[in-house]
Amino acid sequence: MSATVIDGKAFAATVREKVAIHVARLKEEHGITPGLAVVLVGEDPASQVYVRSKGKMTVEVGMNSYEHKLDIDTPEDVLLALIAKLNADPAVHGILVQLPLPKHLDEDLVINAIDPAKDVDGFHISNVGLLGTGQKSMVPCTPLGCLMMLRDHHGALSGMNAVVIGRSNIVGKPMAQLLLNDSCTVTIAHSRTKDLPDVVRGADIVVAAVGRPEMVPGDWIKDGATVIDVGINRIDAPEKGEGKTRLVGDVHYESCAAVAGAITPVPGGVGPMTIACLLANTVTACCRANNLAEPEGLTA
Ligand code: NAD
Repeated sequence: MSATVIDGKAFAATVREKVAIHVARLKEEHGITPGLAVVLVGEDPASQVYVRSKGKMTVEVGMNSYEHKLDIDTPEDVLLALIAKLNADPAVHGILVQLPLPKHLDEDLVINAIDPAKDVDGFHISNVGLLGTGQKSMVPCTPLGCLMMLRDHHGALSGMNAVVIGRSNIVGKPMAQLLLNDSCTVTIAHSRTKDLPDVVRGADIVVAAVGRPEMVPGDWIKDGATVIDVGINRIDAPEKGEGKTRLVGDVHYESCAAVAGAITPVPGGVGPMTIACLLANTVTACCRANNLAEPEGLTA
C-alpha cells in the first residue's frame, strides 16, 4: 500500500481562509477586529522566525498583530506587568508568550498570568483543566491542528485505537486528551514505555511527538494506519553539499508511507497547521469575548 499524503500546507491554507472570512464578517457586522499580541523575550533565532511568521499571517487574515519584544534580561515583574496590561486591553483577544523563556523567568507563573480567555496557546492551567473535563476551552494549537487533519481524513474517530508517542504538556498530553474526547481508545507512550514497537503496532492512529529524528520505522506501523508526524528535526544532509541540513520528522517517512493508509509529511504536514490554529484560536477567543457565534470547524 502507498499512503495518502495528508497535505498540511494546503489544509492550513483552507483554515486561514475560513478565519479570514470570519474576521471580515466581524469587522463588517460588528466593527470588531480581532487582535493577537505576541510577546518575545530575548533573541533566540528560531523564536524570532516563529514570531515573524505569526505576525505576518495574523495581518494576512485581516487581524491586528501586536508584537512586544523584550530584552533577554527583562525582570519577571516587567513581563508580568506587560501581561496584565494586555489582559486589560479590549483590542487584544489573544496573548501568546513565545516559549522557551530565558532561564530566570518562571514559565508556569508567566503562562498562568495570562487571562485564560485570551490564552490562545491553551497552556493556562484553567484551559488544561477545562480540556481534561471535556468543557469548552482554548486548545493547544499543534494538537488542535492534528485533530483537524484526523477528523478531515476519517470523519468520526470514535472507537479507533490511538497511540500518542510523547507526553509533553504542549503536544503529547493535550493530543491524547483530544483523541479521548473524540472517543478513541488512547495509549500515551513515552521514553519509559516497554515494547514500544508492539504498542505502536496496535494503533489505527499514531501521533509521534518525540523530538528524535526518524525514530519510528515502517515495521512498527499497522497496515493502513494513519500516521501524524509532529516532529521537526534538523539533520545533516551531506548529499545536498557540505554543511547542508534538512528537516525530518519523528517517523521514517519512506518506510512508514509504504504501509500506512495516510501520513503527514515533514515539512508540510503538522507545522503549517500550528500557526493556522493559532489564528483560529484568536478569532474564537474574540467571538467568545463578544458573545458572538464562533466560526464552525475551527475549534475542538
Ligand atoms: P518534548 O521534548 O517536550 O517531549 C518529548 C516526549 O517524547 C517526552 O514526553 C518523552 O517521554 C518522549 N520520548 C523521548 N524519547 C523517547 C523514546 N525513545 N521513546 C518514546 N518516547 C520518547 O517535546 P515536544 O515539545 O512534545 O515536541 C516533540 C517534537 O515535536 C519535537 O520534534 C518538536 O520540535 C516538535 N514540535 C512540532 C510542532 C509543530 O508545530 N509541528 C510543535 C511543537 C513541537
